[in-house]
Order: sequence, then structure tokens, then C-alpha cells
Amino acid sequence: MIKSFISRVFGRGAKQAAHPSKPVVYGPDKHHIRKDHISRGARKTCEELQRAGHTAYVVGGAVRDLLLGMRPKDFDVATSAHPDEVRSLFRRSRIIGRRFQIVHVMWGAETVEVSTYRAHFTAKDPESEDDRDTQDAHGRVLSDNVFGTQAEDAVRRDFTVNALFYDPVKEEVWDFQHGVKDLIARKLVMIGDPALRYREDPVRMLRAARLSAKLGLAIDPRTAAPIKELKHLLENVPQARLFEEILKMLLSGNAVACVQRLRELELHHGLLPLLDDALEDPATGPFAMAALKATDDRLREDKPVSPAFLLAALLWGRVERRWHELEEKGQPSMPSLHSAMHDALDAQRGSLAIPRRFDATMKELWLLQPRFLQRGGTRPFRLLEHPRFRAAYDFFELRARSGNAPLEVGQWWERFQDASGEERERMLHPDEGGKKKRRRRRGGKRPPGEGGSPEEVAPGADE
Ligand code: ATP
Ligand code: MG
Repeated sequence: MIKSFISRVFGRGAKQAAHPSKPVVYGPDKHHIRKDHISRGARKTCEELQRAGHTAYVVGGAVRDLLLGMRPKDFDVATSAHPDEVRSLFRRSRIIGRRFQIVHVMWGAETVEVSTYRAHFTAKDPESEDDRDTQDAHGRVLSDNVFGTQAEDAVRRDFTVNALFYDPVKEEVWDFQHGVKDLIARKLVMIGDPALRYREDPVRMLRAARLSAKLGLAIDPRTAAPIKELKHLLENVPQARLFEEILKMLLSGNAVACVQRLRELELHHGLLPLLDDALEDPATGPFAMAALKATDDRLREDKPVSPAFLLAALLWGRVERRWHELEEKGQPSMPSLHSAMHDALDAQRGSLAIPRRFDATMKELWLLQPRFLQRGGTRPFRLLEHPRFRAAYDFFELRARSGNAPLEVGQWWERFQDASGEERERMLHPDEGGKKKRRRRRGGKRPPGEGGSPEEVAPGADE
């Protein structure tokens, strides 16, 4: 439907430019983006810059998303004005970055990122001394802060569909790289020589997977071809940037599709053991997949999602395997679980480091899992009162639904949460019609399952 809409709108009279420095300009009658589709901040930023004699456009992902009828996450602006000129035009603005400067312009709660047109850094001989400070030994570009023309700014972007400009004053779309044609054909095409562009920035391989999944575009065969041979270059990318990109995928609302693309491109193996392991383990793979799907569903319904929950789900396979290994060696259950958690996190830090800010939540989710199996005495009530009960229950429930925990226990908890006091008593003591009174545990006697065996404790079996 989108395709026919775009072809209908763009199809007539839109001649593609013969040369990349001459754009095809689509007037307001040739597309459906109106200035009120643009955020107030981005629109005012462009207007102000143009009034001061500069050129200024909304650029990149936002234009692409609007042409596809999707709601953009944010609006970026590209301009001919230099950072200090931008800064002097807007009272509430600040220059960010040292080597590559951009300007943040604030409008109420909105921050618009304004970048000056940049020229594409042409990777030269990676062995050459001259290029050492601007690219690493594999061709990865370390600095590219050269101002350029608007046409050059289009060329330095990654995919043709990401190189479109929109002028919110004239309501025109400016296309230097056949981005519109590729959107109509639903193709993701790398600008320039794909192998060279991946060498400059290996993260573009992951972006190809993520954007093709998000936008429903096929990766053009020439764009996909070099990935298998160059995927090892991701090892040179700083961990923080890699993690950021993986998190973007997982929280994109299309995590399942992203993972599928990563598999097709063979990018999930080795380099991203988190996904590799999580999805291929027969015991916990279906659970990991269910967690990805649940995250996609929640995002679609505009519900909040927690990255720590998803990461805990992806690592659960490792934790659980190690936990049982240690138990089989004769270690008590809870200390085994503690060691297993630390081992899993340590192993993960050796590959793709998960920032430590997620540790506490992940550990809590894992540690609460065995407690769902303990349904005797006062323990279900104590678990219910735990501040992380909701997340831990969601985690357990997903496990139960994907064959990683007893389904019946998951269903029991679902009922128990909403049950009345009387019903709860009946559920805890099914054989006695719920008559047995709850007694508080006193003194040093440990109930089974707490620091003992994590095995199922039948309702009513305690005390
Ligand atoms: P989304 O916002 O949906 O994640 P996006 O394409 O807008 O996708 P951003 O990271 O916001 O992604 O980047 C904004 C724009 O900057 C892109 O559209 C693209 O033009 C350019 N860009 C981003 N990353 C790269 C890159 N690694 N190489 C070249 N250009 C890039
Ligand atoms: Mg964006």
C-alpha cells in the first residue's frame, strides 16, 4: 500500500538526476510530507537558519520515515551554517563534541540536533602513515570533520534512503542519491562501494540489518554481499558503540525481525554471543525468542519496556545451564545460582560488555526465579510484596509459556495474584479447603527451597 502510494505520488514527472551533485527536487505536489508533520523545534530551526541566509533542511531518518508513512523518532537538521553561526542564532543552544561539532538547539522539551554539511572522508591506503590519525589499520574512520556541500553531505551518509533532505519552508524533498527511487523499490542500498563503507564504519553492517527490518526493505544484493567477509571488523568497534547499536535493535519494536536479519547475514554468530547463545540453546532459546516478541508487542502498544529485563532473558540460558552444572557437582542451590550469575556476567564482559548499570536488576530477576516454585506457607505472600515481583513474575510467566518452567505453576501464580484472601488460602491448602491458618515462620528453621533445593514445593507442603 505504501509502495503504491509513493509510486503514485512520485511516479509522474520525477526525473532522476544524472549527476550526484544535482538533486532531484520534488515539490509539494509530488509527495505527501507537510510542514506540520515536522516537529515544531525542527521547523523553527530551519526557518530561522534560512532567514539568516543559510540553507537548512530536515535530514536523514525522519524524511525517510515520513515518506513511508511512519512516525519519526526524532528530527535532525543539516545546514550550510557553521557550528558557531548556528550557536549565535539560537539563545538556547550549545555546541557538542570536539572533533565533530554539532549544535543542540533547545525548544521547550525538544532538542534538535543541527549538523553542518560534511564532506565524505575518502578512505585511502590504510597502511599509509598520512592516514593513521584519521583511520585505523582496517580502514575504520576515526575522524571526519571536514565541512562540505549539501551534495557531499548526502554522499557521506550510509544508505540512499537516509540521504534525503526536506525543506519545511518550501515543502520540497531534495534527493541526491536516488533515495526516493529505492524507497519505491523497497530496497536498502549503500551509497558508494559497500565494502569500503563497511571498512570505514563496521557498525553500518548492523544498521543494514536493523533498518531493513524496521522499514521492511530488502537489502540490495550488492550491499549485502561483502558482509559475510567483513563481519570480523565488528571486533574493532568500541564495545560501548556496539552495545548501543545492539540495544537499539532490541528496543526497536522489531527485535524479532532484526534477529532474523542478523541470522540471514550470519552476523549473530561469534561476534554477538549474547544472541547466538540465547537463541540456539534448545532449553532456553524459545524463551529468549518469546522475550524478544513480548518486547516488540509492548512497544507496539506504547507500553514501557526494560532493557535489563530483555538482557536478563537473553542471558538466562547461560545462567541456568551453569546453575545446574554447579548443583550437579553438589553445591547447594542458591550459592550455585549466585555463582552462575557471576560467571554468566563475566563471560559476557569478555565479548560484548553489558554496562554495569543493568547488573542489579538482572540479578534480582534471576534470584527471584526459584521463589516462584515455593508455594508453601507465607512465602507466596512475601514474594508478592517484593518490589520487583511484577517484573520477576512476567519473566517467570514467559519462561512457563515457553517450556522453561512448569506451565501449571505459571497459571497458579496468575490466579493467586488476583485471588481474594479466602481463595488464596484455598490455593495454599487445597486439601483442607483453605481452612488451615497461615503461620509465621520463627527462628532458624529454613523452609525447603530457600537455600536448599529449588525443586517444586507443593502448596501446603510447608510447615
Ligand atoms: P533511526 O533514527 O530510525 O534509528 P536513523 O537512520 O535516523 O534511524 P540515526 O542514528 O538517527 O539513524 O542517524 C541519522 C542519520 O545519520 C541517518 O539517517 C544517516 O543519514 C546518518 N548516519 C547515521 N549513522 C551513520 C553511519 N554509521 N554512517 C553514515 N551515515 C550515518
Ligand atoms: Mg534518527
